[in-house]
Amino acid sequence: KESVMAGENYEDVMDAKQSQDLAEKTALEELQEVRRSLPIYGYREQLLQAVEEHQVLVIVGDTGSGKTTQIPQYLHEAGYTKRGKVGCTQPRRVAAMSVAARVAQEMGVKLGHEVGYSIRFEDCTSDKTVLKYMTDGMLLRELLGEPDLASYSVVIVDEAHERTLSTDILFGLVKDIARFRPDLKLLISSATMDAEKFSDYFDTAPIFSFPGRRYPVEINYTTAPEADYMDAAIVTVLTIHVREPLGDILVFFTGQEEIESAEENLKQRIRGLGTKIRELIICPIYANLPSELQAKIFEPTPEGARKVVLATNIAETSLTIDGIKYVVDPGFSKMKSYNPRTGMESLLITPISKASATQRAGRAGRTSAGKCYRLYTAFNYNNDLEENTVPEVQRTNLASVVLSLKSLGIHDLINFDFMDPPPAEALVKALELLFALGALNKLGELTKAGRRMAEFPLDPMLSKMIVVSDKYKCSDEVISIAAMLSVGGSIFYRPKDKQVHADNARMNFHTGNVGDHIALLKVYSSWKETNYSTQWCYENYIQVRSMKRARDVRDQLEGLLERVEIEISSNLNELDSVRKSIVAGFFPHTAKLQKNGSYRTVKHPQTVHIHPNSGLSQVLPRWVVYHELVLTSKEYMRQVTELKPEWLIELAPHYYQQKDVEDAASKKMPKGAGKAAM
Ligand code: ADP
Ligand code: MG
Repeated sequence: KESVMAGENYEDVMDAKQSQDLAEKTALEELQEVRRSLPIYGYREQLLQAVEEHQVLVIVGDTGSGKTTQIPQYLHEAGYTKRGKVGCTQPRRVAAMSVAARVAQEMGVKLGHEVGYSIRFEDCTSDKTVLKYMTDGMLLRELLGEPDLASYSVVIVDEAHERTLSTDILFGLVKDIARFRPDLKLLISSATMDAEKFSDYFDTAPIFSFPGRRYPVEINYTTAPEADYMDAAIVTVLTIHVREPLGDILVFFTGQEEIESAEENLKQRIRGLGTKIRELIICPIYANLPSELQAKIFEPTPEGARKVVLATNIAETSLTIDGIKYVVDPGFSKMKSYNPRTGMESLLITPISKASATQRAGRAGRTSAGKCYRLYTAFNYNNDLEENTVPEVQRTNLASVVLSLKSLGIHDLINFDFMDPPPAEALVKALELLFALGALNKLGELTKAGRRMAEFPLDPMLSKMIVVSDKYKCSDEVISIAAMLSVGGSIFYRPKDKQVHADNARMNFHTGNVGDHIALLKVYSSWKETNYSTQWCYENYIQVRSMKRARDVRDQLEGLLERVEIEISSNLNELDSVRKSIVAGFFPHTAKLQKNGSYRTVKHPQTVHIHPNSGLSQVLPRWVVYHELVLTSKEYMRQVTELKPEWLIELAPHYYQQKDVEDAASKKMPKGAGKAAM
């Protein structure tokens, strides 16, 4: 009897295998059918011909029409990859990963083989890779090693309308490369608008535009401004879910924190509604979401259920989720803002532009007629929103790109071929900062330290912190800190029902009021001592995923140290040397305590506060250095460490004079002086 059973099992296995093969084949065939149904498919031959005839081509087509996933495949099928890779840039890392995964699937190959992606600190490509999706920032870095992009036959600057800083810099560089590499094809692809502007910039390159498929979208405004857009968004989702016919919902939030809190809130309220309503599947999507979960947003919604996607701007044009019928648009996004006068940079929640609002609404009408709920008034839309989003190059700190351009041998930045030039002040500020960091000399030339700094794919202040750690013999500690600061997303985990435990666990790392940077170092080294134990992370309320990412980043930084010939050295007994390295990089970010418990930034006085999550928020040291400023209810400093004021003169003599660091607070101050100064 047993043998019969075994035989049956064997046949079962064979059947299963055969049907799996069959299923795979039909899945692939189905995918090919989907490919053929995309709007771009009808223009395949014309597009390939235009690429053949012109070196530079501007391509315009609606979001979701197949530009990003199809054009590289068409080029591959037409033989372009025989001469070199096809590179396709994306402004966002999630988009690069997700699109590459999709294209690999459509081609029936393993991700990382013929189709791969490259984002900062994560290279998923191999020798076989011919279609390479990457962030615009990564192509910029590749240019440092391969200034003529010799390994590429085609470069597609995709999502050009987003006008990120890296995309804008790439424009200038690839335009130049195309002049001396007539065999390189350059495609500038954009979802909307501005096609003429791109064409003018690229020496009147022809525009290839094709119609998408758009269904009407009904726009609804609120009658009065919403006091709390988070709450309004959730109420709107629930109202749609209860009242409107089936069809998925897409809601735009400004970041991970908002999305997480909306998710929790929605779940709670759904529970409150009981079992009479249909199933609502909640799918978050934001930059730091782990890739396993990213794929979930693309899974088809089960019959009878509804999906609600809680997304950042990523879903505005970079990612297309099929089946969306309702869009909820609170009208905000998180933007970097930069004051070129003070050199201060901060993240701000800002109203979106009309162009963004139009894109967002358009997401509802891709597969059938849809509805868009704007959580602002029509008056608001007509009178308060800007026409277009200001290109990033005009609202950001330029130190990082100036350093990259300098290492590419481009010295005349004022005359760099910007599509929209940055304010001259911002360029000057960037040069001043790089000079103060010791990356440039008085003539504006790259120094040895500057050349080393440029090797790191990090902000120049972080790179400086690493490069200087050589001098203080603590590179081992400093790269751990740099890695922990670079992971994005939070390290500590704080579940609602265990906040006290979580806070206690966190405070353990702050024993001795060592400051947030050293606390991060302690977290990393303790985890390393447990041989990277997951259990340890659970016990200490630490996000395993963030830690694993920190380890990857750290490994790469270690490799880069070797490249710039800095030895790994450890100086754990002398934590001040670690602190000095931090200050040597972050001296522009210093602040001094005021009478009322707030701080004032030293160089360009501005009132700031220690973030409540900081280990020093109750300690209030007199002098602090911070990693970044975040504006929420107040302007908060995140990741704070105490410093000795005399270090500023020692480490940044071009930046600080004695008068800046005199400890005025130690002198008697009249009562209320702090307040008057606010
Ligand atoms: P465009 O670049 O013109 O905006 P895309 O090439 O990104 O268009 O999208 C074409 C189609 O491919 C869309 O219908 C989209 O839903 C689908 N698609 C893209 N990425 C994925 C993915 N990761 N999973 C499933 N479908 C995807
Ligand atoms: Mg696209």
